[in-house]
Amino acid sequence: MGSNAAIQISHLDKIFLTVRNERVHALSDISLSVAEKEFVTIVGPSGCGKSTLLKIMAGLIPASSGTLRVVGQPVLKPRRDIGIVFQNPILLPWRTVLENVLLPAEVQGLPAAATKARARDLLKMVGLADFENKYPGELSGGMQQRAAISRALVCDPAILLMDEPFGALDAMTREQMNLDLQRIWRESGKTIVLITHSIPEAVFLGDRVVVMTPRPGRIACVIDVPLKRPRSLEAMGDPAFGRTSSDIRRLLYSLNDATLVAEGGGLG
Ligand code: ADP
Ligand code: MG
Repeated sequence: MGSNAAIQISHLDKIFLTVRNERVHALSDISLSVAEKEFVTIVGPSGCGKSTLLKIMAGLIPASSGTLRVVGQPVLKPRRDIGIVFQNPILLPWRTVLENVLLPAEVQGLPAAATKARARDLLKMVGLADFENKYPGELSGGMQQRAAISRALVCDPAILLMDEPFGALDAMTREQMNLDLQRIWRESGKTIVLITHSIPEAVFLGDRVVVMTPRPGRIACVIDVPLKRPRSLEAMGDPAFGRTSSDIRRLLYSLNDATLVAEGGGLG
């Protein structure tokens, strides 16, 4: 994986200093390599540092120590070849869907005509072709998140980082978004790292699932998902899907119990 790694993280630590001058050890000794065009998902208990890890990968905040390379280069600030999607789509209410999608391209000063064509293609790919002139308030939550995905892709980043992008959606919309995201990933050839609370979502989407420990977040295990692509929703009924999901669930619960015992919580 070494030479064609899209993202290479080595012995990364993050310690926050709070306003009260307390040290919060968020991430500890994270090493992970993500190959080009790979789809990696990350699960872990709330507060274990998943968002922190994603923000560091995106160049939004610095690591305390360790190294991070994206396509072989150290990351010192946000990069044009990384797109980010957060749980909240954060669309500007006074701009149409198309104008929202075009915003990063405008900020980057990319040529207007070409990016408009690209934005329209992306809206078509996410199923919003007929909604480009609507305003965010006229869209459902799932449609807003589709627009946010188009926006993240408008500058054609090689890497897409997603932080619980479907966490606010209802179960059926979420399954549909999982299917659509798999298709978009396959069609676009992007490298994707996606954080989720949902074990089935992590298994359904990931080539590999990274399981993190409670804070300070470490990588407990990286699990290969033994399911062929493309995966249909029926893949969730596959015995291999069930086995992989329960392995991850058991691991997460055992890690959590170990922390409770260590903190005295497990003793009553
Ligand atoms: P997750 O996304 O896994 O729920 P986060 O990455 O948001 O976890 O947070 C990990 C830990 O770091 C938490 O304990 C959180 O309170 C702490 N943290 C996150 N951001 C900051 C910050 N800017 N200052 C201080 N502590 C922070
Ligand atoms: Mg988070």
